[in-house]
Amino acid sequence: MTEFLDQDIQFLPGVGPVRAELLRKELNLHTFRDLVYYFPYKYIDRTKFYKISEVHAQMPHIQVKGKIVSMEVVGVGNKQRLTATFRDETGSMELIWFQGVKWMKENLKLHTTVTIFGKPAEFNGVINVVHPEIEAEGDISLKPSGIFQAHYITSEKMKKKFVTSKALHKIMLLLVEKMKGRVPETLPGPLIGKLKLMSLEEALISIHKPATTLDLKNARFRLKFEELFLIQLKILGLKHARESKFKGYPFTQVGFNFNTFYHDYLPFPLTEAQKRVLREIRRDLSRPIQMNRLLQGDVGSGKTLVALMTALIAFDNGFQACLMAPTEILAQQHFATITRLVEGMHIGCGLLTGSTRAAERSLLHEKLGDGSLQLLIGTHALIEDVVVFRNLGLVIIDEQHRFGVAQRAKLWQKNDTIPPHILVMTATPIPRTLAMTVYGDLDVSVIDELPPGRKPIQTLHYFENRRAEVFQFIRRKVAEGRQIYIVYPLISESENLDLKNLEEGFRHVTETFPEFEVCMVHGRMKPQEKEREMSRFKEGKTQIMVATTVIEVGVDVPNATVMVIESAERFGLSQLHQLRGRVGRGAEQSFCLLMSSYKVTNESRKRLATMVRTNDGFEIAEMDMRLRGPGDMEGTQQSGMGFDLKIANLAKDGQILDMARHEARDLLDTDPRLENEEHLILRKSLSQGKKTDFEWSVIS
Ligand code: ADP
Ligand code: MG
Repeated sequence: MTEFLDQDIQFLPGVGPVRAELLRKELNLHTFRDLVYYFPYKYIDRTKFYKISEVHAQMPHIQVKGKIVSMEVVGVGNKQRLTATFRDETGSMELIWFQGVKWMKENLKLHTTVTIFGKPAEFNGVINVVHPEIEAEGDISLKPSGIFQAHYITSEKMKKKFVTSKALHKIMLLLVEKMKGRVPETLPGPLIGKLKLMSLEEALISIHKPATTLDLKNARFRLKFEELFLIQLKILGLKHARESKFKGYPFTQVGFNFNTFYHDYLPFPLTEAQKRVLREIRRDLSRPIQMNRLLQGDVGSGKTLVALMTALIAFDNGFQACLMAPTEILAQQHFATITRLVEGMHIGCGLLTGSTRAAERSLLHEKLGDGSLQLLIGTHALIEDVVVFRNLGLVIIDEQHRFGVAQRAKLWQKNDTIPPHILVMTATPIPRTLAMTVYGDLDVSVIDELPPGRKPIQTLHYFENRRAEVFQFIRRKVAEGRQIYIVYPLISESENLDLKNLEEGFRHVTETFPEFEVCMVHGRMKPQEKEREMSRFKEGKTQIMVATTVIEVGVDVPNATVMVIESAERFGLSQLHQLRGRVGRGAEQSFCLLMSSYKVTNESRKRLATMVRTNDGFEIAEMDMRLRGPGDMEGTQQSGMGFDLKIANLAKDGQILDMARHEARDLLDTDPRLENEEHLILRKSLSQGKKTDFEWSVIS
């Protein structure tokens, strides 16, 4: 027998086949359950009354008690409308009807106290409400949900067919009435008791028809908790399963390579954060379980060194390692940095990118096969099937959000006996709550400390009219011997237009600074050309680099101390932060100058203000999530997880998430496979609802 909630919505009174079709097509609602889990997006508090003197046109809605003192039909035919003067002891306003004029005129009562409800507007200095709801004193029929009126998102198509928020509300009220006594609980009794949660049935009723504010609060808490708890249970359960299924090579030795490097080659003492992270990694590697660790650290925090030292541990245990970077430039840079760091240590390092020549390529393949190459650094080229390692034990991925899940999975398979340990590094800090959810099955390490001696970058925002000052500043800095980046955004869909924009900028800069060498770098250049310009800049042969965001990752020129970002209002927060990270790499004070036009949206303004206020990548990431919403955050799309929270909000519900994770962990500690009698209910809850493909977790 179908459970009550599994019934087709068309069998609900007030729905029927036509509306059911509409709800299916427009909102993807099929069953009673889908419907009851379609939550209101807001509630209007019908306990709040205003005086007419308090009302202004910017209020979203008002509720006022007063009397209609006069009315008048204005205009003729189609243009006819009914205008009524509505008054309380503080003033008067107008009520207007364009439809049902005749009926309203006959039924509106003058001089009796009524309550009106609606959206205020202003015309010719007079406040009015068009088509207000009106109710006589004592009449509660218009307040079917008690003190709060629930509002639902509906589509244009639905509105056209009169399935408005109000109509949906009516359907919901019918449903919750019918539902009573027929909603099975989804969480174990002891958990509900421990956290004093509302029952599911009560919560589902209250979310649509709250009796009191407290009632609504408890209902929301219960539903948010459940949503986050089930996700955590799933993620942590999969992590458990993965760890018992996928063995890892225990790297028990910390030996010659690591120690030699640490004692004789390390160019500077490690920061405390680097040490802590290395300890975390070493602990992971020593277990016979595959490591899956995410290393977060702001730009310039010294992740490369951690990567190298992790690789040294792999070599000490007789394994090979690879380091994959998202761009050719970055791969080359890693290769240069690392070979320099280990120079004299006799470690076989190779570089493999799209532009590696065939002859060299086959040499690399050969050395990989016989094991004389210990570390392979490269781009996506590493993934290709022809690249075969003798015994790959460690995969390090830099700037991970640029790689899809599938690509990572391919690297896994490069050791067919036991999968290699995985270290994923990202300079795009992910808000804590998002990391716990999207990357919840990875262990997370954080480098939250910059190497000593760095001066925080100063960030300033300039409007277009102060460009002369900015150019003056650039001139002074170059005279002092510094170098400058000027970055242009990708504005249009068309690369040609963007290029034109960049070229215009380049011409302008060249004309303004005839005395300096200016170069240009963009994504459509050949890798060799790009590389040539980059090296010339690095060697100080050019002073100003005009570029697109291709310089976002990896460029390391300590002498470049000024980053000018043109049309900064067009960039997202995380990208602005990434770009800013290109400067501040040396001992000199660095600057980031954000140029924008006057016309910036509210959101852009907040982004720019955040950049000016803080250098802290985590704070910026939190803000980014608050401004954009968790669903749009970089990384979520590629995570491959159908990320569909109905009620919890990762930007706001961090505390509930902590609680959910904690409870999930406790529960799995005692019963990892959910086999206890009282946990069977959870298996059902996990398989219910939206089918989410969680297989990603096994490979990310
Ligand atoms: P990330 O990859 O995290 O952005 P890098 O690894 O490129 O940062 O390091 C940035 C710079 O800091 C490099 O020039 C590196 O040599 C330097 N660096 C790294 N660790 C330290 C340290 N412990 N002390 C001083 N400088 C360091
Ligand atoms: Mg780096």
